[in-house]
Amino acid sequence: MHNCRHRRPWLSGRLLVSVLALAIVSATVGAGAALLLRPANEPAQTSSRVTVVATTPPPDASEQPQAQPAERPSHKVEQSPTSSAPAAGTAPEEVASQEQSTTASTQPSAEQHAESQEAEESQPVEQTAAQQEQQASDIEVDPPPEVQPRFAITTTPARLTQGEALALTVESEQASAVAATIGGRSWNLIQTAPGLWWTVIAIPRDADTGTTAVVVDLYAEDGDWLRSASASVVVLANAAPLEEVTLGGTGTPADPADVARDIAVRFSDHISVSGPPRWNGPWILPVEGEVTGVFGAQRTYDGVQAQGWHHGHDIAAQHGDPIVAPAPGTVVWTGEVILHGIGVIIDHGAGVYSGYWHMSLIAVREGMDVAPGDWLGNIGNTGLSTGPHLHWEVIIQGVDVDPVQWLGDDRPPLPPVAPDSEQTADTLD
Ligand SMILES: [Zn+2]
Repeated sequence: MHNCRHRRPWLSGRLLVSVLALAIVSATVGAGAALLLRPANEPAQTSSRVTVVATTPPPDASEQPQAQPAERPSHKVEQSPTSSAPAAGTAPEEVASQEQSTTASTQPSAEQHAESQEAEESQPVEQTAAQQEQQASDIEVDPPPEVQPRFAITTTPARLTQGEALALTVESEQASAVAATIGGRSWNLIQTAPGLWWTVIAIPRDADTGTTAVVVDLYAEDGDWLRSASASVVVLANAAPLEEVTLGGTGTPADPADVARDIAVRFSDHISVSGPPRWNGPWILPVEGEVTGVFGAQRTYDGVQAQGWHHGHDIAAQHGDPIVAPAPGTVVWTGEVILHGIGVIIDHGAGVYSGYWHMSLIAVREGMDVAPGDWLGNIGNTGLSTGPHLHWEVIIQGVDVDPVQWLGDDRPPLPPVAPDSEQTADTLD
């Protein structure tokens, strides 16, 4: 569970304890490496949008999109002749440019297309013929296509760093349920309006860098798979600096069961999506102070490289300084664990939780609603900590992310309002 050069976990130095915690969390959340630091200047937020306006052929008779995992039901995605934006799986430079709209479509048969037009009630017959001709000149479809309603995916930001989060919006006129997968991990979505689903997705600290696909599957009311499409996001390396830690003193070994509970409370026990997002703007700092540790940093302990990474954002402050809620939510856990000491966990909705650790005092009870600025408790030095500080964590459906992203404008955007029908018609022109 921990580096063999550390023969066992010790309770007396926060750093050594961190070695143990990191090793175990790494095994729990997904092992891996990666390094490097978040750029000092964040790029402007970008979005990637994929709109499937017409048809997709059956999944067994089509090509595999470049960035789509092999095990997914496949579909053929063709770029619209009128679109200059890149399709899913394009190079990072192209995707990063700005708001993008990628249209994926295939040619319907005349009869089916006519049915589609009737359903949309927005296209003159003359345009239908011209549109068909244009599509026929550029697109080849092997099997007889099947007309399907509009289906759009938007990811924002479309370019982000390992350990940051994005918002995924799915618009579909036909789905009863929607599933999203990225890097082999599935994410729960919230239906925020008829035909509209949304969620926040964490890019794990150890995710592969480069262009990756968010694959969205639509399901019918009876559970049958309907169709899928993917949107690409560009994952940049987390460049947190290596933190060198010097250990001192001795201690007693931690009970592995206590350590496992520490991990479970912070990660796996609080992953459910309890409802829509509770926040409606940037979060505020829970305490002012010197930043003594950043999310994603790898650490050496007496020169020995630890597994995993730092899962939170450390702010040193005076013992007893108040810690406040950075965003609205409900307190779902208060108590003490072996490594991180006394803590509070808040559910912010949408599967987003935040944790506050090494506290000296808890000022809230489980079940309490909190607003930004509400007093949660005080700075302390409990658990394996070498000085008074707050270890602040943000966990999304069980995956830890950098809390700092939530303070700024590059945080994931909130759900959009319900899609209006005029906008839908525009995309068909
Ligand atoms: Zn920390």
